[in-house]
Amino acid sequence: MTRFKSVILDVDSTVSELEGIDWLAAQRTPDVAAAVVALTTDAMEARVPLDAVYGRRLSLIKPTRTEIMDLASAYIRTALPGVREAVSVWRDAGVRVVLVSGGLRDALLPLSAWLGIPALGVHAVDVDYDATDVAVTVRGDAPLARAGGKPEVVRRLNLPRPILAVGDGATDAELVPHVDRFVAFTGVARREHVVAVAADEVRSFAVLTPLVLGS
Ligand SMILES: [Mg+2]
Repeated sequence: MTRFKSVILDVDSTVSELEGIDWLAAQRTPDVAAAVVALTTDAMEARVPLDAVYGRRLSLIKPTRTEIMDLASAYIRTALPGVREAVSVWRDAGVRVVLVSGGLRDALLPLSAWLGIPALGVHAVDVDYDATDVAVTVRGDAPLARAGGKPEVVRRLNLPRPILAVGDGATDAELVPHVDRFVAFTGVARREHVVAVAADEVRSFAVLTPLVLGS
């Protein structure tokens, strides 16, 4: 019997060192990249709502399908030490592990496969491509592209409880009332307002395993 039956993982700056949108922006001119990083930081620090910046970042960057696949490889290259082993141990113990991310689903699927998490366990943002394979628009309602989206998605998932959520950003901290425990992951970025609402602060996946399993 594990302590938690479900684990919700954020991806950017939690499973991987990257902020995916910033990585895509870095493929552009320095001024585009700086503008996008500033928008991301504002959203993560909760200075502006995520919905106000998501579409703007995409239209500034206009990432190609090839670049999004390159990002997928970069996510795997920059995965946090021990994350793959930890997810494997949790899943072997019967814990349901899902990724709930404001990132682009197409860039996350290879990472989830590498982690051993089925595609159905990947909750992220879908984009539509134009005829030249440029990602132009967020597809459909996309709750994860806006503030309040993570709680909305998590409620709908109806995950087995108790649920542990792990993340570094403001959108992760929104999960606090909807899960049984929220852990601030500070192995990549440490945000005081996220740590302040978290039950624990954790810097590595090795430390998370005893917490998840209760051993
Ligand atoms: Mg994050």
